[in-house]
Amino acid sequence: TRRPIIAGNWKMNMTPAESVILSQGISNRYARGWDKVDVVVCPPAIDLRSVFTVLDFDKSNIDVGAQNVHWEPSGAFTGEISIPMLKDVGCSWCIVGHSERREMFGETDGDVNRKVRALVDAKMCAIVCVGESLSMRDGGDAVQFVCDQVRAALAGLDAQEVAFVTVAYEPIWAIGTGRTATPEQAQEMAAAIRATVAELVGQEAADAMRVLYGGSMKPENADGFLACPDVDGGLIGGAALKAEDFAALVEAA
Ligand code: 13P
Repeated sequence: TRRPIIAGNWKMNMTPAESVILSQGISNRYARGWDKVDVVVCPPAIDLRSVFTVLDFDKSNIDVGAQNVHWEPSGAFTGEISIPMLKDVGCSWCIVGHSERREMFGETDGDVNRKVRALVDAKMCAIVCVGESLSMRDGGDAVQFVCDQVRAALAGLDAQEVAFVTVAYEPIWAIGTGRTATPEQAQEMAAAIRATVAELVGQEAADAMRVLYGGSMKPENADGFLACPDVDGGLIGGAALKAEDFAALVEAA
């Protein structure tokens, strides 16, 4: 059985000072049962140090991730952040290929693959986001499109390397809209993603890989997704900004 993951993507929210309050709120709610879940918070990069001032010194076992990274270890890449920088502050996770980065910042499948490769080489956990637009969903092409994104993101990885990868299925039309996929849609896509990974690196590695749902997931609708056999947790946006909601999602997982 796969260990569930509840990951919070704070996006471009929370100043360093606010990030301390939110992490305190989350770690204060840490309770028995949380050790059965991989709990990950992904604040803006400038908040990472502040978040660690809270989470480094408690017993909560909450992991910290970045929202993006560059694949080169250093150099003339103004505005970018490297894996050695993330590791130095203590990050063990990183989100890659979020639809907002693909849509607004021009990230390509090739970029996503280079980032995944670099993270895996550094033994960091990558949360690779995939998901279709509403027009693709309506056109009936969603499964094909998402599985192509998975193939592109994981190109060149072997079964051992895929152990560092989690795939988050985030239908673009469900992100920040209040409109979720149905659990049936999430299950169908999660199963298709797992089958694609099995084609790439074998059934055993595919069975071990966690697949998350993301898109307007909150305590009130989480149970339906978490009950899906191929959905192993959630990547949470808006609800991750409220300690109470985020904690409730961890409890549900
Ligand atoms: P919301 O939960 O705000 O819809 O965001 C989901 C998401 O994009 C997480 O990465």
